[in-house]
Amino acid sequence: MGKRVTTQVSAEEIAQQYKYIEILRDYNQARISRLGRPVKYNIETFGCQMNENDSERLSGMLSEMGYSESAKRTDSDLIIFNTCCVRENAEQKVYGHLGALKKLKENNHELVIAICGCMMQQPEVVEHIRKVYKHVDIVFGTHNLYKFPELLNTAVENKGTVIDVWDSTGSIAENMPITRKESLKAWVTVMYGCNNFCSYCIVPYVRGRERSRDIEEIRNEVVKLAQEGCREITLLGQNVNSYGKDLEGEYSFAGLLRELDRLDGIERIRFMTSHPKDLSEELIYAVRDCKKVCGHLHLPVQAGSSKILEKMNRKYSKEQYLDLVEKVRKHIPDISLSTDIIVGFPGETEEDFAETLDVVAKARFDMAYTFLYSKRTGTPAAKAPDQIPEEVKKERFDRLLALQNHVSRDINDRLLGKEVEVLVEGLSKSSKTTYTGRTRENKIVNFKGSPQLVGSLVRVKIDTVQTWSLLGKLV
Ligand code: SF4
Repeated sequence: MGKRVTTQVSAEEIAQQYKYIEILRDYNQARISRLGRPVKYNIETFGCQMNENDSERLSGMLSEMGYSESAKRTDSDLIIFNTCCVRENAEQKVYGHLGALKKLKENNHELVIAICGCMMQQPEVVEHIRKVYKHVDIVFGTHNLYKFPELLNTAVENKGTVIDVWDSTGSIAENMPITRKESLKAWVTVMYGCNNFCSYCIVPYVRGRERSRDIEEIRNEVVKLAQEGCREITLLGQNVNSYGKDLEGEYSFAGLLRELDRLDGIERIRFMTSHPKDLSEELIYAVRDCKKVCGHLHLPVQAGSSKILEKMNRKYSKEQYLDLVEKVRKHIPDISLSTDIIVGFPGETEEDFAETLDVVAKARFDMAYTFLYSKRTGTPAAKAPDQIPEEVKKERFDRLLALQNHVSRDINDRLLGKEVEVLVEGLSKSSKTTYTGRTRENKIVNFKGSPQLVGSLVRVKIDTVQTWSLLGKLV
């Protein structure tokens, strides 16, 4: 079978969307004069960084259309829910929010309610919304986000529900506007979709197959970010190690890192997520060699038992994972590792769980994102007969957390008295004089500082260690 090559949405189609943006800008200008106030939008984002990044794109389109952002739904003229379907209880929350908007709509007939994101890629969800939440105006999915201006224009003109969800797409839309939440740090999506079909995960069904962005487009985006004052980028993809496999020519994620490392202005480059089965030596060398690429690797293990890993369809064993960790540490001794772990996957025995604890003890993760397994309808694991009782899962979860906290604290203890490089992000939430930032290894550091340091790299000597953060003094 030949290579499936990702293409871009045509320039004409993108230009078409800009036309709708213009039409809506005129429409909003007239409304602003009529109402004597700004027209506002509110976006609620559920789920992962990919969704956050998609919401930044929606914000970009909306600000070009003349909307101002509002933190409140109650004073907004347009409300968008950007949904996630990884966890089923998050879906129930979305339905609750939608129900509550009915009253708002009754009081403001001009209010537009839109819902998008992964949840909409499931036909039964769209059908439920169509039947039960008739006050929703626009339903769209993850593959046609760039068409939002057109959909909004149709909703405004026709006053009926607009439903447009695509099954999949082989194309990527470039050159649409974007408004970022932060100026110092930015997400840069490098690829979409996933081909892996882990047995507990809905992502491949709702985000489609892997599609990589053109290297030039990524480069241009990063150059622009640097010109705008951004200092740190995080390259995003469900499985960044597959980057480039679907592009015409020889591209790899390691090559992309080396290319971006050469650009001026950006100080730090991070990335996530790496599937252990695809982590190449070439990538390890790139992380080792590239000055701007941070020494932090998020490498989800998910479980310690090879039997459970096979049931999860992860395509590596416990031993292969630990060998990989050893190889990474051999080439990059100071690397910080983080991981994801699912507790209580169907069929997990006490012995299997002990293997997970063993991996945590041996791999010595700086940080672990731990989850109780929860059934995700539409995935093979949800149909497995040997589901684990909730109380067993919770008890194992607590033991795992206690061990991980101990490891994290132990790793942090070794930083006591050491000097670290911190990118200053701003004031810490609880203080007017304490500033906060992260080390290259992604550790949070708080210290007494001043406003002019924000955005710069400083050296801090660590004098107090906590499990999740460090305190120190400017050097
Ligand atoms: S690699 Fe597995 S867990 Fe990650 S998005 Fe793909 S299917 Fe889901």
